[in-house]
Parts: sequence; C-alpha cells; structure tokens
Amino acid sequence: MSVEKIDTLIIGGGQAGIALSEHLGAQGVPHVVLERGRIAERWRSERWDSLVANGPAWHDRFPNREFTETGPDGFTPAHEIVAYLVGYAQQVGAPIREGVEVTSLTRQGELFIAETSAGTFEAKHVVAATGPFQRAIIPPLVPDDAGIAQLHSAHYKNPAQLPPGAVMVIGAGSSGVQIADELRKSGRRVYLSVGPHDRPPRRYRGRDFVWWLGALGMWDAKTVAPDMAHVTIAVSGAEGGHTVDFRNLAAAGITLVGRTTSYEAGVLRFADDIEQNIRQGDENYLSMLRAADEYVAAHKLDLPPEPEAHELAPLPACVTNPLAALDIKAANVTSIIWATGYGLDFGWLKLDAFDAAGNPRHQRGVAEVPGLYFLGLAWLSRRASPFIWGVWHDAAYIAHHIAARRQALAAE
Ligand SMILES: Cc1cc2nc3c(=O)[nH]c(=O)nc-3n(C[C@H](O)[C@H](O)[C@H](O)COP(=O)(O)OP(=O)(O)OC[C@H]3O[C@@H](n4cnc5c(N)ncnc54)[C@H](O)[C@@H]3O)c2cc1C
Repeated sequence: MSVEKIDTLIIGGGQAGIALSEHLGAQGVPHVVLERGRIAERWRSERWDSLVANGPAWHDRFPNREFTETGPDGFTPAHEIVAYLVGYAQQVGAPIREGVEVTSLTRQGELFIAETSAGTFEAKHVVAATGPFQRAIIPPLVPDDAGIAQLHSAHYKNPAQLPPGAVMVIGAGSSGVQIADELRKSGRRVYLSVGPHDRPPRRYRGRDFVWWLGALGMWDAKTVAPDMAHVTIAVSGAEGGHTVDFRNLAAAGITLVGRTTSYEAGVLRFADDIEQNIRQGDENYLSMLRAADEYVAAHKLDLPPEPEAHELAPLPACVTNPLAALDIKAANVTSIIWATGYGLDFGWLKLDAFDAAGNPRHQRGVAEVPGLYFLGLAWLSRRASPFIWGVWHDAAYIAHHIAARRQALAAE
C-alpha cells in the first residue's frame, strides 16, 4: 500500500490547525491538515444551537479577517464562526483533507508514521491540533439506568431535545449558566448546581471584559494560579452580552444548589457550599473592578466611573437557606445536563510524550519528542492559548520552530 510523504502533518482542522496552516504556508513549509470530520467540526456538532462567542467580534477572531455579519461589538453566533473558519481556510489556501481520522501515530527512526482512515502518512513533523476540549467529562454519580435522561453540554442542542419536565444543570461555568437560562426561558423549571467559579464583569467603565484582560496583562498569564486550577469562568455573550450574576438567575426562578456530591435511590445530594461559592465569585467580580479602577487611575484614563457596578443585591433565599438534597421524582426532574467540562483524549498518539497524569510534556507546544508539537491546549503558552485569537500567535511560534528545525536538518 502506498505511503504519502509530507514534511509536516497537522492533525485537526479547527481554528488551531487552520491558523498553523497559514503560518506554515508563509514559511514555505509543505504540509497537510487531516480533519476527521469537517472544518471546525466542534463548532458545528459539539455546541448548542443558540451559542454565541464569549468575546465580542472585534476580539474573538484572527488578525487577518473580520466578521462580516456581526458588528465589531456584537457576539458572533456559532454558525457564523464556522463560516468564518471555512472562509479563512480558503483565504489562506489551507490544504485540509476532511473526513480523514488519524487512528495512530508512531515513530520509525526520525520519521512519524500516521495511520489514518485514508491510508498511511509519513512526516518529519507532526502537530497535534485536536483541541483543548476533546472529551466530554461526566462524573460517575448517576447510573445510566436511573430513569433520567443525562447528557453533557457538548451534546445539548436546545430545550426541545429534552423530555418534558424539570431540568437539573450541573456545573455553572459559561456553558452551564447559559444553558440553564435558556431552559428557564423556554418555560422549564431549572435547578443549577454551582461550584467554585470566577465571574468577571461583562463590561466595566465602557470597556468589555476581554479588553480589561488585555489591559491588566491577564491574557498573558503564563500559568494557572494554583488555587484557580479547578475554577471555571462564568461569562456570557448571549443577548448582546451581560455579566453573570447568580442573583439574577435566582430572581428569574432558577433554584441554585451547591456542588452535587452524590446520588442514591433517586435523591441527589449537594455540598453545603453554595453561599461560599457565590461569595467567592462575587469577590472575583469585585477584585476585577478594583484592578480596573487602579488601572484607570494609574494611566489617567478618561473612562466613565461606574460606582453602581460595585453594589451587589442581597443573596437569594436558595443561597442563604439552600437545599441539601433533591428527590428527582418528586421534583419532576426528568433530565440532567452535565456542564462539567472536558478532558484530553490522545489515545491515538502512541509516543512517550505524556506525563504520569496523561498531560502532554511540552514547552510552548514544543514536545520533548523531536519534531512533535501540540497546539491549542489550555495554557499552552499563556491564558490566551485555547482561544481563537490566542491560538493564532502560538501557531506562529510553532511554525517558526518547524521552519528553523527544517533548516537545521537540511544543514546537517
Ligand atoms: C462551549 C464552548 C464555547 C467556546 N466559546 C469560545 C469563544 O467564544 N471564543 C473563543 O475564542 N473560544 C471559545 N471556546 C474555546 C475554543 O475556541 C474552542 O474550544 C475551539 O473549538 C478550539 O479550537 P481548536 O482548533 O484548538 O480545537 P477543535 O475545535 O476542538 O478542533 C480540533 C479538531 O480536531 C479534529 N480531530 C480530533 N481528533 C482527530 C483525529 N484523531 N484525527 C483527525 N482529526 C481529529 C476534531 O474533529 C476537531 O475538528 C469555546 C469552547 C467551548 C467548549
């Protein structure tokens, strides 16, 4: 059987693979992008119907193309992001082969061998660009035969998909709060299990949160702070964008509960931590306002003061007098949505490239295995790494590294 030889193989045709293709093209590096589905497949099939980008369109994009339908301050719908990435791939002439899945990657001498659904590829360099969010994680709490529909936020589409009845949404990061609110608006009774979280202000003193992250140097944070490791961020671009305040969700009728800890005989139990989680989220919100105020003063900026943003309403009753347990039949809860995040899935990458916890060993995406790279992972080089605009800059670095390595190998 014939083997296709290529200098650099990119695995994954999402934003990371496309950005890298642009930079490798500019460096004159021959390459191919293999995508098991279609371009931007996860934006097509692993996001809910009404999802819009978390950041405004002026920010959540590549430098060399703007969104045409969404204005710069709007929040781009997921289907437009797909069209944008498809258009971008055409713009940069990315050689993407759709419908080709890499099933194993091994090494023979200096060369990588990729077995795929479309035959064997041999490459000098391989970049794994298979996403920061590869595998939906559902904690093993509620058995499959509990008589309740269970799905992960990656497979939630819209309220009509769920059986009639109340819904328990577990996890209150950006996905959980947005899905809970959509279900509530569709007329569902909704319970929302809230763990530790950050909840930055959407806008403050006339500037969006993403602008403040830039001004305060937070996009460039190199490592996740130890106490932030498991903290999710609740932020929303829905309906023109708004700050997530759990008080508003409760006032609209959503029952907030603490972290879900167990399930037995039809009863879900919650940790006694909802008030603490809400207060910590408030503190995160207020700390960002304070940092922004200090920045405005230090740089003598003329941004309108917003004292009312510092005022928080009293905590709702479901937080001060929380439910410890919920009998799901009695509450008519017929579905659970697990908005509990994602893990990695590198089962196809059969090389000694991972630490004991299964995380890739790399520096700024350059793996310890010579010629192997990772792109698009959370915190690959900094906080911005998994986001649309951030991955473009990481891709530039990796493309330069590959080009330099090719020169060095040629000189040898
Ligand atoms: C709900 C949600 C909302 C988000 N909203 C935003 C936002 O508003 N703004 C923002 O900047 N970021 C956002 N992100 C983060 C990030 O931008 C996305 O996760 C984005 O999809 C990551 O792009 P990627 O190219 O790195 O990976 P992916 O989009 O995951 O692309 C990887 C590709 O690799 C393919 N693949 C995987 N394994 C193989 C294999 N073995 N062989 C061949 N192909 C393979 C997959 O099919 C996939 O198409 C969001 C993430 C989530 C989960």
